[in-house]
Amino acid sequence: MPNRRNVYLYYTPSDELEPKVQELRKLGRKYDFQLVKNPDEANIIASIGGDGAFLQAIRKTKFREDCLYVGINDGHLGFYTDFDLNNLERIEAGMQASGLEVLRYPTLEVTVDEMQSFQCLNECAIRSNIIKTFAIDVFIDDLYFETFRGDGMVVSTPTGSTAYNKSLGGAVVDPKLKGFQLTEISSINNNQYRTLGSPLLLNKDRELVLKVIQDGNDHPIIGADNEALSIRHIHELKIRLSEKEIKTLRMKDNLFLHKVRRSFL
Ligand code: NAP
Ligand code: MN
Repeated sequence: MPNRRNVYLYYTPSDELEPKVQELRKLGRKYDFQLVKNPDEANIIASIGGDGAFLQAIRKTKFREDCLYVGINDGHLGFYTDFDLNNLERIEAGMQASGLEVLRYPTLEVTVDEMQSFQCLNECAIRSNIIKTFAIDVFIDDLYFETFRGDGMVVSTPTGSTAYNKSLGGAVVDPKLKGFQLTEISSINNNQYRTLGSPLLLNKDRELVLKVIQDGNDHPIIGADNEALSIRHIHELKIRLSEKEIKTLRMKDNLFLHKVRRSFL
């Protein structure tokens, strides 16, 4: 790809968004960016919308490592979105590459039943799809760790720590720490079932295996960021930090701690 400025815009068109996107296109032309219709031809993939749109853009374009991903929000800034359609000055500064920084975000690699594998940027969630609980044997590096019974478990990346993980009482993790976190969704703790009961932060080279106990309720929903897998029946998930990272552009004045403070404090 000779042109390093091939841009694919990932968004759901709407009457409200269109005039703003037109302005963005105009600005792009001024700085010699080329809009492409096929994401395969792009070296820059820009999502328009919230963090959810950014997650979708990455998933739909298959977590490309040879691409820069950029999140452009509408109205405010998010965790993956460093630009705002209503602040063209900031976008223009980004196009001039002033104050820009490339960040690499780790992803999770999840293998289902030793066959199918997929990546996650926020988290992989496994949840009961009925009102009954289900049980999981948890292994870390081949060591039996605990048997969980409850609604489910979430394994999140550092950048995913501020999403689902945080609602479950998980720690907010500085993305400079390379590791991943296991949190519980409503575990039963009594004389029969016992789990750690607190979030567990694991180092980047650990391997986590979640084995679904086959006792009838063994059809949990598997969520990869904001999408559910179509697999209906599983035995185990093997989860580790992937060597593949996502490259994204952010402004130097919008550090992780700025985002945490802006969103939560
Ligand atoms: P959603 O249910 O519409 O929104 C979930 C919220 O999480 C949105 O406000 C979204 O921001 C925000 N978000 C996404 N990634 C984030 C991150 N890394 N840090 C902080 N906030 C983040 O679904 P969605 O927008 O498609 O996002 C998918 C994510 O929702 C999943 O990956 C999961 O983490 C999260 N989720 C949370 C719960 C919960 O907390 N109980 C349950 C299910 C899923 P935007 O508004 O900018 O999109
Ligand atoms: Mn089976």
